[in-house]
Amino acid sequence: MNHNAQIILDAIIESDEHMTAEQIHMLLRDSGNNISLATVYNNLGKLCEQGNIRKVCVAGYPDRYDKVVKHDHLICRKCGKLSDISFSDLTGFLQSQTDEEILSYDLQVSYICPDCRKKEQKEQERKDVGK
Ligand SMILES: [Zn+2]
Ligand SMILES: [Zn+2]
Repeated sequence: MNHNAQIILDAIIESDEHMTAEQIHMLLRDSGNNISLATVYNNLGKLCEQGNIRKVCVAGYPDRYDKVVKHDHLICRKCGKLSDISFSDLTGFLQSQTDEEILSYDLQVSYICPDCRKKEQKEQERKDVGK
């Protein structure tokens, strides 16, 4: 693995965030790596192909990159924030629903994150006061 791929992989493994290519680029630049955004994109593509990281796609938001260790995601419907969660393995259940062999599944569960929930509550309170 080339040096750039290695530092990108390390950044993703060490982070609990779900970073976009731009965020990874900024993080690496901030820690003194002279690396271009194009190089970051290139290496992210390769790391995905090699199965070292995974790409998380949510419609309406930029792609984010994540560790490959098995986990699922809660996705905030308001701000698009991803939170890690581990549901029990559904492979057996899903397998029972189909005759074909299930290779993997990718579960994305929508919710409203605590931050957005708080904001909503505040707005509601403001409205109530104005009544
Ligand atoms: Zn949110
Ligand atoms: Zn994740």
